[in-house]
Amino acid sequence: KPIIGVLALQGDVREHFHALAACGAEPVNVRRESELAAVDGLVLPGGESTAISKLLEVFGLLEPLRQRLREGLPAYGSCAGMILLADTVLDTRPDAQSLSGIDMTVRRNAFGRQVDSFETDLDFAGIAGDPVRAVFIRAPWVERVGDGVRVLATVPSGPAAGRIVAVRQDNVLATSFHPEVTGDLRVHAMFVDIVRERAAAMT
Ligand code: GLN
Repeated sequence: KPIIGVLALQGDVREHFHALAACGAEPVNVRRESELAAVDGLVLPGGESTAISKLLEVFGLLEPLRQRLREGLPAYGSCAGMILLADTVLDTRPDAQSLSGIDMTVRRNAFGRQVDSFETDLDFAGIAGDPVRAVFIRAPWVERVGDGVRVLATVPSGPAAGRIVAVRQDNVLATSFHPEVTGDLRVHAMFVDIVRERAAAMT
């Protein structure tokens, strides 16, 4: 079983933990450097990106995590996790730290007050069958992606139609929304596959 960490500093850690277990991974909470060193992949949960950023510094995880990402550690960030993985973040606090996991620009709280939170069905590249039910909670969207970044999903209709809400660069996946709260395991299963493939390639 691949050992997949959930960054357990703040946010909806438990929901990701259960989704990973249901996908056949062995989830572990990550709060210290030694725990980070032991994982084959890492989930960055939803929550509050500036709070998580601050806690990454306090717990001494910021540099070790940047280093592991540079070495190709598979990672998946949902919502606040997407913000943390972005190279560039708009509308955030100036002292918020970035992990630079994906060459993209993300706008924090992008959907605005009118539509703070909403749900929609998305076509998601690489996920066949029914559309993915996407729950957005004070979510970011992606405003720019670099050449190496694949867009996996965009908002299908409404005022935010066409906005990018799921991306992948190499082994790093990010969604604006929260698949961990819907019971649809397919995004987590995709990430577990990424982790399995990388682990297999390394042995
Ligand atoms: N708005 C939050 C932030 O800026 C993200 C919200 C979420 O993770 N649901 O971090």
